[in-house]
Formats: sequence, C-alpha cells, structure tokens
Amino acid sequence: TETEVSPELLEEGRRAYALDREHVFHSWVAQGSFDPMVVTRAEGSHVWDGEGRRLIDFSSQMVNTNIGHQHPRVVEAIQEQARTLCTIAPAHVNPARSEAARLIAELAPGDLNHVFFTNAGADAVEHAIRMARLHTGRRKVLSAYRSYHGGTELAVNVTGDPRRFANDVGDAGVARFMPAYPYRSYFHSSSPGEETERALRHLEDTILLEGPDTLAALILESIPGTAGIYVPPPGYMAGVRALTRKYGIVYIADEVMAGFGRSGRWFSVDHWDVEPDLMTFAKGVTSGYVPLGGVAISEAIYETFRERPYPGGLTYSGHPLACATAVATIGAMRDEGMVEHAAWLGENVFGPGLAEIAERHRSVGETRGLGCFWAVELVKNRETREPLAPYGGSSSAMGEVVGAVKAGGVLPFANYNRIHVAPPLNISEEVARRGLEILDAALEVADRHAD
Ligand code: PMP
Repeated sequence: TETEVSPELLEEGRRAYALDREHVFHSWVAQGSFDPMVVTRAEGSHVWDGEGRRLIDFSSQMVNTNIGHQHPRVVEAIQEQARTLCTIAPAHVNPARSEAARLIAELAPGDLNHVFFTNAGADAVEHAIRMARLHTGRRKVLSAYRSYHGGTELAVNVTGDPRRFANDVGDAGVARFMPAYPYRSYFHSSSPGEETERALRHLEDTILLEGPDTLAALILESIPGTAGIYVPPPGYMAGVRALTRKYGIVYIADEVMAGFGRSGRWFSVDHWDVEPDLMTFAKGVTSGYVPLGGVAISEAIYETFRERPYPGGLTYSGHPLACATAVATIGAMRDEGMVEHAAWLGENVFGPGLAEIAERHRSVGETRGLGCFWAVELVKNRETREPLAPYGGSSSAMGEVVGAVKAGGVLPFANYNRIHVAPPLNISEEVARRGLEILDAALEVADRHAD
C-alpha cells in the first residue's frame, strides 16, 4: 500500500504534522501530549495515514461521513454551487436551501415540515431548546445522563457526560434523568421489559418532582451515540413520547449522530415510529463535506412563530455551499440505496459478526447496535462488568487496544471502554467483514487485561 500515497503527499503530511503541533489548538485533549494521526488521503471507506498505510474507516470521522469519502456526485455538486453562488445572507431566498429544506421535511417523521439551518449539531441543540422555551413559556430542560449534545454553552450543559464539567457552575434549569440502559441498568432490572417499566417510572417521577409546569423540553438521543450506542429496550421510546405529551413538554429528538441513515433508517426515531416536536440534525446531512446542521420543526411549534418573530439567527443559516451539499448527499443516499444497505449490513454482517466476536473474547461485555452503528463494550470481568476504562476516563489497557486495532488496519471511534464500529453506510460487505476480522484479532490485546 506504500504506493497508494505519493511521496509528495507523505512529505506534506510530515510538514503539516509539525505545523499542527506548533499552532493548532485541539478539541477535548491536553495540547502538549496529544499525538494526532495524519491523514494523507481519504476515499470511500478508507483513509491513509502519515506513513501511507491504508486503514478501513470504522469511525466515519466522528460518525459523520455516511456516504464515504470523496463521493464524486457530492464533490461535483459543491464545485457547481461554488461556481454559481458561494454565499448569500440568510434572509434571501436561496434555491439550495429551499431544496434541502423540502427534502428534509419529506424524510423527517410526523409533521416536521419546517427547517431552521445551523452550522453544526451544537447550535442546532441551542436553537431547539430556545424554540421549546419560547413555545412553552417554561425554562427547564430535561436531559439524560450518558448522552452527548455538543460543546457550546447550553449544549454541553445538557450533555450527560463528564464533559459538562467544562461548565462546572452548570446552567440553572437543566435537570437530568437516568436513561434505560439494560446492560448497566440503574434500576436493577433483569429484563428489557422491566428496564422499560422502571426507567419510565423514574422519568415520570423526575418530571413530577421537578414540576411539569417548569419543564420546557426533554432532549434525548433515541440511540445515544458518543455515550455508547445503547439501543433502548422495547416500549421505552413510545413511553418517553407519551410522558412528554402528558405533561406538555417539548420532545427534542437529537438525531445529530444517529440520523441520516446511520442506524439503517433515515432517523433513529423511525425504528419506534416516534414523532418528535423538534428534531436536531447535522453530520450525515452533508456527510460532513461542508458543515451543516439544523432543527426540523413541527407545525405546532411553527405556529408559535407565525406572528411572533423568532429571536435567533445565524449569518450562515442555510449556507448555499452546505445546502447544495445536503441536496447531493441525500440524493446519493437515496439513489444508491445506502440506508437499506446499512440496515442489511447491520442484520447480516455487523450484528452476527460482532456477536461471534463477543463469544470469542472474554473482554467483550456486550455488543449492540443497528445498521452501521455498533458498540463493543470492553470489560475487565464479564460477571462484574467492570469497564476496561472508567466512565469519563481512560486506561492504558484501552490505549493498547485502540493501538492494536489501528496497527491491524482499522480506524475505530473509541470512547472510554468502548470501540465503536461506525463505517460509511456504503461500505462494501467485503471491506466490512475484513474490518471485523482485524477487530477480532486486535481484541486479543483486550483479553490480556480481562479475567
Ligand atoms: N448531538 C449529538 C447526538 C452528537 O453526537 C453531536 C456530535 N458528536 C452533537 C450533538 C454536536 O454536534 P457538533 O459537534 O456538530 O456541534
């Protein structure tokens, strides 16, 4: 594979690494010790590193590149839009935005017929909460522990992982609940049905104790992504929806990571036929080729802002380059049957393949997921389920495992004690199976740290 990246690109990679370490300030890490990987080339389901080694991209670059790298149709659409119109103020009609909004309204569940465009996921979350507050006249937001909603002020506050400590004073008006999570049940339940029942009782108690009249919104990832791709047990999502309806709380489905085909349906809420009041999206909508996010808005919430101005906006709301990218991305996903392919891979390759891996390795506590959205949860001991790295922390064992996966030729998305398998939706069956073989072999390293 040495010849797949030109010597010039490898040299550029080396120069870029040196400049990066000198001048670039990175997200979420200690700057001094961070050793970022150089990517010299990316195509389809592969990336090439600083040595020109080819890796299978099981990360989709933060679970983002749903159509794979450098899709020609999308690259061309960006070039075409750049030739036509690069930028325009958000108040003007922008054909790329009009078409992107039409497509998203068509795909989105229920009556989410209006779209407010943002730059990314975090600002979509900020705006969705603002809309909910104005719509209800209430202020507090309910969010789940073990969730991720973004890195801006309010988005990091509703995030239910230790990153919210970035704002250690907290935001007055965020209340949290424990989600249904059968593998690590907070409710000591012994079956998925019991987990649903107890988790919903806990949620209803939380609502009652916080005071329903004070709760503007409940924000939830139907399949929490960064926090572990834990698929909710049967009945949970319908139960959450019923409780939000019962107490007049705006239900915000955060589909930033799980949306746009990732789970084998257009949106993860579709697995449970749940219709949110607001739905945030980003990532997959453009596959990250150009940054874009947004909020899909129900008719009822739209009505609130029919006469009354919406007090919020962004210079780049509906940026033409981003929206043209979304139109081409959605078009490619539809025409090439990528969502169906992702569902097929989940049922026939990742589900069974990871189940076999779990049988072979004592370090694997659980594998779970849907479509092209899977987690391998690593433990020191299968009985106690003690994680290989603590929540919110790291361990040298996890570092070794991730190193072994990469050395084998797979780029994973790793988080605490989990290896996530989230390749592009159009990864071929052959490459997907090869990636699983590499993962399988690398998990020998994890087994050495497990009883
Ligand atoms: N919500 C969810 C569910 C996410 O996964 C993410 C990003 N990982 C965000 C919000 C924030 O998106 P962004 O990083 O684009 O701001």
